[in-house]
Amino acid sequence: ELIRSRIVGLLEAFPDYPRPGVVYQDLSRIYAEPGVLDDAADHVRDHFSGRFDRIVAVESRGFVMGAVLAARCEVPLTLVRKPGKLPGAVHSVGYALEYGEDRLEVRQGAIAPGERVLCVDDVLATGGTLLAAAELVEASAAEVAGSVVLVELSGLPGAERLKAYDLLSLCEVA
Ligand code: IMP
Repeated sequence: ELIRSRIVGLLEAFPDYPRPGVVYQDLSRIYAEPGVLDDAADHVRDHFSGRFDRIVAVESRGFVMGAVLAARCEVPLTLVRKPGKLPGAVHSVGYALEYGEDRLEVRQGAIAPGERVLCVDDVLATGGTLLAAAELVEASAAEVAGSVVLVELSGLPGAERLKAYDLLSLCEVA
């Protein structure tokens, strides 16, 4: 539809960034274009119509879409952070990167048990990041209602790995 082609039209591909052989999709022009995230959020809201109670957004660019979506849907927003950023007791989940490992954390008690949660990030590649966010939701005794990305990189296993979590990708690019 319209929102899909608007997002695709605003993407900028950078071959061999950050490493040779990788094509980096830069979303800066999406954030710079007034109205695009609002329209994307309306699409997400209609797709999941009322089937979620909370947005969980992944540091750092997931925060942008997550905040717009939470405001648009009038639901609470929880920020999932990189390690060491949150005070107090946290749930913590490790996940594999291409080289090495990373972690995501959420404050214990930030997500209420039984809530239906939508996990949001900017780009889906291998799916490791969104899967870790989903595990944090489950560690909070809540339920993943779905996952949302602005851009899915096709040809990577991300979508396959997120099958259990009702993935909505606003566009796919090679
Ligand atoms: P994954 O965990 O492999 O799915 O990678 C997704 C994470 O890496 C997201 O948080 C993205 O912000 C980031 N990422 C991976 N590839 C790209 C890209 O081409 N453009 C922008 N961000 C990317």
